[in-house]
Amino acid sequence: MLLIRPKPHVDESLESYFLRLAQSNGFEKYKTFVGALNFELYKHNGTKSRLLPLDLHVLNPCFAKHSSNERLKCLKQISMMTAQDVLPVLSLAIYRANQKYSSGVGCVIQQGRLYPRQFLHQSNIGICPECLAEASYIRQIWHFEPYTVCHRHCCPLIHQCACGEHIDYLFLDSIDQCPECGVTYKNINVVAKADEEELHISKWLAGEHVGAFPVVSIVHRWGLYLWWIQLRESTTGSKSFNEYMTQWPKFFDKYLNTCLSHLEMKAASVKHTKFSDVFGDILNKSIRLPSSRLADNLVLQHLYQFLNTQLSWQGSNLNKITVNAIEASILLGISIDQVSALYDQGELHSFVKLKSDEIIQPHQSVFQLDELFLLWLSSFQVEGSNYHVMTSTW
Ligand SMILES: [Zn+2]
Ligand SMILES: [Zn+2]
Repeated sequence: MLLIRPKPHVDESLESYFLRLAQSNGFEKYKTFVGALNFELYKHNGTKSRLLPLDLHVLNPCFAKHSSNERLKCLKQISMMTAQDVLPVLSLAIYRANQKYSSGVGCVIQQGRLYPRQFLHQSNIGICPECLAEASYIRQIWHFEPYTVCHRHCCPLIHQCACGEHIDYLFLDSIDQCPECGVTYKNINVVAKADEEELHISKWLAGEHVGAFPVVSIVHRWGLYLWWIQLRESTTGSKSFNEYMTQWPKFFDKYLNTCLSHLEMKAASVKHTKFSDVFGDILNKSIRLPSSRLADNLVLQHLYQFLNTQLSWQGSNLNKITVNAIEASILLGISIDQVSALYDQGELHSFVKLKSDEIIQPHQSVFQLDELFLLWLSSFQVEGSNYHVMTSTW
């Protein structure tokens, strides 16, 4: 049934490809097209569980309500029907990833790259008329929230046609033309100037080198942006992401020092101060962005650097603050069970007296930060997470 088979573009969204596939085969609406496809799929598989959704905005496997596996099988069959190699169409799809960012935020994965799930839009997708003029398809990156300016043409993505009609190809079934006034989107002249800050963020997230922004992997850039959004109220003190990143690690350092100054103020009771009382849940928020290797995680690298400097100083009150088993497992890069085993083997000591048969609870603050850090330095450094990684940047 699919006589015309357009080639997918490598940076195209799956929804865009399906719409092009539908329209090149004479189906004006995605719904009618998918109805016909589902008829074929049902004939072939004899099961209703392996059909495509009638709404374009939930086509990607990461949005499948019940089974993303079944959705994947559908897409595989379709890719055979389009006579594409299996991989090109499947590589456009976005999948759920098991991994989570540190703060419990879910991940999606496309072409081997992780993105925070919360950044992926299912509506209100803006467009760049100049990109459409070059090739008429929707770029996947337009679906991600922090990307608001076309990094190639430096113009803001637009959401409204000259006639006032909202642009949203997922609901209008049109990639390049306004269904209301008939104007071709590529002919819309974008007069609005891009916000400088948004332009820098979009360029950087798209993988370009931007001024003094840190040169890190693209996946870590998305992780850093997520981290900054979550912590900006408590940790930044800077006005913008640009300012925060171009002066890295100045503002993060400032935040850590502010936390520390609170500790100094209550120095008298410092013996029993928990790590979380001083630094909140910064350790937990920074551990996977999405990598937890110091070499690949700028935030964690600086946090270790900071702790190392502070703990090397004899008079530091930080020496006596306590950590729980969860924090210990993050700092050592091991599981909570392994922390318990270290305690049982006498490698780690509890500063509170525990009964011989007492099991350490994950939230119980029983270890001292300095001992733990020494243990990490002496025995728990691994490739990509070692002392050299955090000192070599200085
Ligand atoms: Zn563009
Ligand atoms: Zn219009």
